[in-house]
Amino acid sequence: MSKDTIPYKIYLEENEMPKAWYNLRADMINKPAPLIHPGTHQPMTLEDLSPVFCEELCKQELNNTDPFIEIPQEIRDFYKMYRPSPLVRAYCLEEKLGTPAKIYYKFEGNNTSGSHKLNSAIAQAYYAKQQGLKGVTTETGAGQWGTALSMACSYFDLDCKVYMVKVSYEQKPFRREVMRTYGASVTPSPSETTQIGKKILEEHPGTTGSLGCAISEAVEVATSTPGYRYVLGSVLNQVLLHQSIIGLETKAALDKYGIVPDMIIGCAGGGSNLGGLIAPFMGEKIKGNADYRIIAVEPASCPSFTRGRYAYDFADTGMVCPLAKMYTLGSGFIPAPNHAGGLRYHGMSPVLSQLYDDGLMEAIAVPQTEVFAAAEEFARVEGILPAPESSHAIKVALDEAKKCIETGEEKTIVFGLTGTGYFDMVAYEKYHDGIMDDYVPTDEELEKYFETLPPIE
Ligand SMILES: *Cc1c(COP(=O)(O)O)cnc(C)c1O
Repeated sequence: MSKDTIPYKIYLEENEMPKAWYNLRADMINKPAPLIHPGTHQPMTLEDLSPVFCEELCKQELNNTDPFIEIPQEIRDFYKMYRPSPLVRAYCLEEKLGTPAKIYYKFEGNNTSGSHKLNSAIAQAYYAKQQGLKGVTTETGAGQWGTALSMACSYFDLDCKVYMVKVSYEQKPFRREVMRTYGASVTPSPSETTQIGKKILEEHPGTTGSLGCAISEAVEVATSTPGYRYVLGSVLNQVLLHQSIIGLETKAALDKYGIVPDMIIGCAGGGSNLGGLIAPFMGEKIKGNADYRIIAVEPASCPSFTRGRYAYDFADTGMVCPLAKMYTLGSGFIPAPNHAGGLRYHGMSPVLSQLYDDGLMEAIAVPQTEVFAAAEEFARVEGILPAPESSHAIKVALDEAKKCIETGEEKTIVFGLTGTGYFDMVAYEKYHDGIMDDYVPTDEELEKYFETLPPIE
């Protein structure tokens, strides 16, 4: 089809927006391994999970059977403020590249938080409110999740306590102030406000913190303060469920114009945007109704899929969270300071881990400077200034489109553009000044972290 028949931006009508999330687990033949209790090593039950997470979210976490879960009206009303998000045909980019490929991207950066994370934040805040809770606690690294959650909590008038990795707290003051604008309290982690924080500060005075440590603090506060629960922005099954809105809208928009993608590409940190984007396509693939290439893109500095082990591991440094079976680099893994804050987690969604292990999807690790080169190439033609995380997907989409120039194939490429990069200009600056490095961990370094994996079958 030509430019005349397919618009630059495919928007769904309001009444075409999904009314239910899609739970891919229901259609998976090999289900993701259950979370297990850190003490007993038995699968986590509703009773085990409820002191930490909201009741309804625990049910969603454990639900491997219902393919569709209705999106409550209040959440749909909130979604309408920034959804449907556009599926954009990158005509300008195609022309610039001179590729016969057809490139589409699903843009999730069209809200103030600047990323897809709001899709799950609003759902989690809603269920907390429904349960009559006073507030929620969480951690944030680069700040995208904390920002999304603070927006969602202010909408439902919930208290929001964010533990922000100390180095980000100091280096990203603007993110911090956005969160405070929406009424969240932001504490640099590790802090003196928790037992685990005090312990870590005693053992490592002057530490600038880590995501794993901030998780431990947030969980401690949630479980020791009446009326509070802990919420998490990625990795968990419930988060992938909420993010299925991305894939459902993408599929509906493509179907509207009879477009069938050859490949679907997304960046993978904890796996939530990718899990959401691919959900309905993967469902078809599993049922044998269609075939797509599905590609996860991760940083070469934090290569959970491509160089990790598929094993049970701790989700946090304090080892208070349930254990998850996932592709992991070990909970002690500290990635080199790359600039895609959202892709620095040591593990990966158990759902995506199982799909990858079953050979249903591929993964590629890309070095940082190539990611920023792709980001810039994209920004200069398509206008949007992409987040470093999203630019991992751009990099591989560009590579695939360039391959089509050589082969002459008219492949249809869909990728997820998860967010904008306005808070990442220090990273862009390093790239422009030529002082960005491409550190990749050696096998010996990885081996050292694998030794810390708990011995569980
Ligand atoms: C957090 C984040 C990611 C990575 O998280 P996933 O859970 O893997 O989706 C990707 N892009 C942006 C913009 C983010 O904020």
